Amino acid sequence: MLEPVPLKPRSLDRYMQVMTPAARERIETLAKSLHNKRVLQINATAYGGGVAEILTTLIPMMRGIGVDAQWEVMYGTDDFYNVTKAIHNSLQGMETAWTPQMEEIYYDQQIANIERLEAEEYDFVVVHDPQPAGFLDQYIKKHGHRPPGKWIWRCHIDTSRPFAPVADYVFPFIENYDAAVFTMQDFIPTGRPLPPISLIPPCIDPISLKNLSLGDEVNHAIVDSYGIDPNRPFLVQISRFDPWKDPLGVIDAYRIVKKEIPEIQLVLAGSMASDDPEGMHYLARTETHAQDDPDIFILTNAHGVGAIEVNAFQRAAAVVIQKSTREGFGLTVSEAMWKQTPVIGGNVGGIRLQIEHEKTGYLVDDVDACAKHCIDLLKNLDQCKKMGELAHNHVRENFTMTALLENWLQLFVSLQD
Ligand code: UDP
Repeated sequence: MLEPVPLKPRSLDRYMQVMTPAARERIETLAKSLHNKRVLQINATAYGGGVAEILTTLIPMMRGIGVDAQWEVMYGTDDFYNVTKAIHNSLQGMETAWTPQMEEIYYDQQIANIERLEAEEYDFVVVHDPQPAGFLDQYIKKHGHRPPGKWIWRCHIDTSRPFAPVADYVFPFIENYDAAVFTMQDFIPTGRPLPPISLIPPCIDPISLKNLSLGDEVNHAIVDSYGIDPNRPFLVQISRFDPWKDPLGVIDAYRIVKKEIPEIQLVLAGSMASDDPEGMHYLARTETHAQDDPDIFILTNAHGVGAIEVNAFQRAAAVVIQKSTREGFGLTVSEAMWKQTPVIGGNVGGIRLQIEHEKTGYLVDDVDACAKHCIDLLKNLDQCKKMGELAHNHVRENFTMTALLENWLQLFVSLQD
């Protein structure tokens, strides 16, 4: 067994407020044909980042409807996570110095993990992202046959224009899967043999501590406890410290805004995921870029920023920013839209699935556009109500957990023999 993540079942009843009766009926029908089926989800970290965020809710929901779902986290060394971060960056299009030694580190870790995996126990195995992508290949090599269950690779990143040397190494591992899941059509790499593909966007959990309503008093108290002035407006970006999330660009945009609106503050909050060794380095770069500006607050889970704090920041902020330059989805965008806080997102990847420009938020291509929309929004906050309502409804209809649960059950049913 890999590292199990213990989670309790959660009843669908808890989602009655955010789900139509027809959706509930569809889910229950699908669940009947999957009763007691064993599902294993494997990823690289139990904490930090969107995949962990989703599995924390999806697994309990699957259990709540009678599917025997488990979540196990793979084992990895620091060297391995340095390699997989390079893979992650390369698959999103960054050129990296890819070496045979890196291939060896990746491969050895696949072998070490497969030794511990009880793959025969499961009807469906869902493998998330590149870190464990080679497990199936390794299983087949070790046993000389396929495992009994159906294997699905779930890709959460934008692989539309990958750096070829790394893609040439990683994508052959995917060929033998029974299915691959991407967030959107654009992300499917062209010219490579792939298994049958499903498109499933990630979703947020509206009843989680991250998203439920807290009340202004609580929001203000939490903001205040971090030294942020709750009576002055602030911009926030909630993101891992990662080049693709462009925290430096957010600081540049804030500086332009500050010239026009001197009372503005900026909060950059990011959890440090255990599979993201680049995070510490990029946090340090971000701190240097902030130049001790007392109105910039750079916070991490080390300061006690957890789900409730993120919730309060997203609710109390004047504007939520997600200025990514590549983005698989960006759950933080839907989280802000759900809360009816105005949101400005990078005009890339999965953010474009969520924001319709000038209707449910703003899509921006550069720092200047980000700053301009911040200023416009800050000067017209009372006009944002309509946009907030449209944004909330868009998330309710497309990106809440019950939709994700239904999509996964549908895929499992379609793969059953
Ligand atoms: N997040 C958090 N605390 C932080 C930073 C991020 O809880 O300090 C959460 C954030 O609210 C979101 C997830 O981590 O739910 C990040 O997912 P997203 O899809 O935005 O980005 P990823 O990290 O997967 O690239």
